[in-house]
Amino acid sequence: MSRSLSIAIIGCGTAGLAAALLLERVGHTVTLVERFNEPQPLGSGLILQPSGLAVLNELGLAAPLIATGSRIDRLFGLNATTDSVVLDVRYAALKRERFGVGIHRAALFETLFASVQKRTVAIETGVEVGDIDASPGGKVSLIAAGGRRLGPFDLVVDASGTRSALLAHAARPVTRTPLSYGALWANVPLAGTDFDRHALEQRYRCASVMVGVLPVGRHGEELEPQAALFWSLKADALDAWRSAGLAAWKAEVERIWPATAPLLAHIVAPEQLTFASYRHQTLPLPRGRRIAFIGDAAHSTSPQLGQGANMALLDAHALAVALDQAGDLDAALLRYAELRRWHVRLYQAASRMFTPFYQSDSTVLPLIRDRVVPPLARLPGIDRMLALLVAGLIGDPLGRLGLKEPAIAAESDRPALAGERAER
Ligand SMILES: Cc1cc2nc3c(=O)[nH]c(=O)nc-3n(C[C@H](O)[C@H](O)[C@H](O)COP(=O)(O)OP(=O)(O)OC[C@H]3O[C@@H](n4cnc5c(N)ncnc54)[C@H](O)[C@@H]3O)c2cc1C
Repeated sequence: MSRSLSIAIIGCGTAGLAAALLLERVGHTVTLVERFNEPQPLGSGLILQPSGLAVLNELGLAAPLIATGSRIDRLFGLNATTDSVVLDVRYAALKRERFGVGIHRAALFETLFASVQKRTVAIETGVEVGDIDASPGGKVSLIAAGGRRLGPFDLVVDASGTRSALLAHAARPVTRTPLSYGALWANVPLAGTDFDRHALEQRYRCASVMVGVLPVGRHGEELEPQAALFWSLKADALDAWRSAGLAAWKAEVERIWPATAPLLAHIVAPEQLTFASYRHQTLPLPRGRRIAFIGDAAHSTSPQLGQGANMALLDAHALAVALDQAGDLDAALLRYAELRRWHVRLYQAASRMFTPFYQSDSTVLPLIRDRVVPPLARLPGIDRMLALLVAGLIGDPLGRLGLKEPAIAAESDRPALAGERAER
């Protein structure tokens, strides 16, 4: 589109901030609206995959994030009872050099937010959007708590996450499957431990117990590299977990994985752990009249495949591409949905399929997992497919969006890697 649009983006998460950067830089007038008085990250850590890094590279942000985070070469999991391998995915199985980046959520948020603050983007905080409304001239306004109206705008981008209040405005109804398991998360220093700085490691008991350690690099004043420590927990077991007390939980984690003891020593109060609940939710059409849905508002899953933030980045880029390519707004929204359709469908299906093997009450599925995954993952071809899946690259999402994998990633990664190796 040659015309500059006035665009409201709801939500200062990964999706909203990336969309603001990508849309403002091509001349649209962007207003970011956030419910918190101070925009802030939630949660502890995540993995940026080659798919998401390609978008961040386009924004000039891949290099600083790679330098801050921890290069991840392998996702590795053991059955804590039998010590058998139940998950082993290596990026090295891919033809060219690729890796994930374990990153502190605050580091990702601050990098994106600082970049937005340098641009001409209006930021309205403390505004909880509850609905949208048609305005004269075919435009659309936001309706916030207390009846306040913002706008009118040519387009609303809903980046308000999985609990969006605007899903009823999508062209087709949302599909939703509740997930009983969530997780407790905390960031802890890795110093003084033997954990591999370049692997996400997990230990399982059946599929109902899981503890994981994800190196996330450094953030802010922290000189020591950190890790996100996470523990699977059903939402309806949270109260029982609180009543049992921290000492009982720490003893249980340590029993399952004794090497976590020095990490657990940093957790002295339950408030250091944040509980995250998950839901499997998809909008079959992530668009409506003058509204586009991106990120978790359009699709969310359990984090087993670790794709959510990366998908959010791809969505933001796809929307910018669609607005650029199409002749009018309706065509642009159709194009946006089309650009993302297959990649989203594929990953939502994969997540739906894999999650019960790693996080469920089933006793049969983990048995199958323990027998089938190790020999399968070693087969040439399968190891590559699994690595491609984890890298977020199945379905060629980058080619569709004209994105190139960051050569810069390999370049800028070198100093950080050297530093990390010295620590091992
Ligand atoms: C425990 C956990 C681990 C994860 N691990 C990974 C991983 O390893 N890799 C990965 O890629 N993904 C991971 N994910 C998923 C990833 O975090 C999400 O997919 C991603 O953060 C979605 O970003 P978003 O911007 O769409 O939504 P959010 O991050 O949820 O941001 C939404 C924003 O909108 C604001 N907002 C909400 N409602 C309103 C409203 N009504 N009005 C105004 N503002 C509003 C919120 O305050 C927030 O700032 C994980 C998720 C969890 C919970």
